Amino acid sequence: MSKPAIITGICGQDGPYLAQLLLNKGYSVVGTTRSIEKSNTQGLRFLGIENEVELIEIDDFTVENLQKIIKTHQPTEIYNLAAQSSVGESFKQPIATVQDNVMSVLGWLEAMRQSAPDISFYQASSSEMYGNVRPSDLPIKEGLIFNPASPYGISKASAHWLAVNYREAHGLKTGCGILFNHESALRGPNYVIKKVLRQALMIAEGKQQTPIQVGNLSIERDWGYAPEYVKAMWSILHQDQLDDYHICSGTVISLNEFISKIFKELNLDPEKHLSVDPQFYRLVDLQTIYGDNTKAKNELGWNYSMSTDQLVKQLIADEYELIAWQARN
Ligand code: NDP
Repeated sequence: MSKPAIITGICGQDGPYLAQLLLNKGYSVVGTTRSIEKSNTQGLRFLGIENEVELIEIDDFTVENLQKIIKTHQPTEIYNLAAQSSVGESFKQPIATVQDNVMSVLGWLEAMRQSAPDISFYQASSSEMYGNVRPSDLPIKEGLIFNPASPYGISKASAHWLAVNYREAHGLKTGCGILFNHESALRGPNYVIKKVLRQALMIAEGKQQTPIQVGNLSIERDWGYAPEYVKAMWSILHQDQLDDYHICSGTVISLNEFISKIFKELNLDPEKHLSVDPQFYRLVDLQTIYGDNTKAKNELGWNYSMSTDQLVKQLIADEYELIAWQARN
């Protein structure tokens, strides 16, 4: 008998990779979207698993509705990836961001507490919960106080504490992955690395003449590879005592350096093809943020070892593969 798992937000970046991992482990996978009609199933199709996943619609996160979903699908594990996940967008839509990102988590936790306390629940927490940290706190270790600097960070911090609270107060099996930026071919088109990468490939092929517009190039981040990060999500739910873990590369690089590496790989001149546009600056930005992944490596056995150079090469290869697939489909 296959084990049933629910992945919320399955049509995003991480959902298809996690679904593929779970299917390979013998799970049956139910994925949620807010609207089947409008859902973007490209990621599931690109990975060739769209027919192996049952897609269901949830736009009502009341406890009653979530209890019905749980009763119908009997999941042993829920991976809660659904969220308004853009920091920039959260400044434009603070109410929806906080409402959606927090109340959905509370709905699931209450539904589990009231009628399905044996389900294991993964919450997608974020490094944005830390906000701007002191240089002496870098690399950030689990346990550092949250100081979020955006409605997105605040929503994720609230959702995180709810997952922790239901574990401590009600004994629910909740575990949070505090993920730092991670990228892949399935990243949404408006996220900076994906945007730059796609346009740089177009420029390299002579299909785009205009420069790529970017915001603050001096920010420093910890970037990793999504297909490797989803492995940690599964491991987090398979510990004797569930806990919270940093999932990050542990290395730091500025956006400027990251983009320079992409341009170097493609023999492009940043001076010619990159233009800084203040409209892409955030109201408040995090200057430097990177994490310590020792706990995940020691306790989960998560063995991430990709360097930034390897990541850049991999992302370029994956993007070419996606472009070729899109041309055929
Ligand atoms: P995506 O934004 O790619 O996917 C999330 C999915 O959630 C979307 O595809 C969408 O699916 C659904 N969604 C969007 N807005 C809402 C909303 N307002 N309410 C409910 N559902 C919504 O995220 P990723 O796959 O990149 O990330 C997965 C999770 O991990 C997210 O919770 C994200 O915040 C978190 N995270 C991601 C990081 C990263 O670098 N990628 C870093 C740290 C945390 P649909 O339209 O089909 O409903």
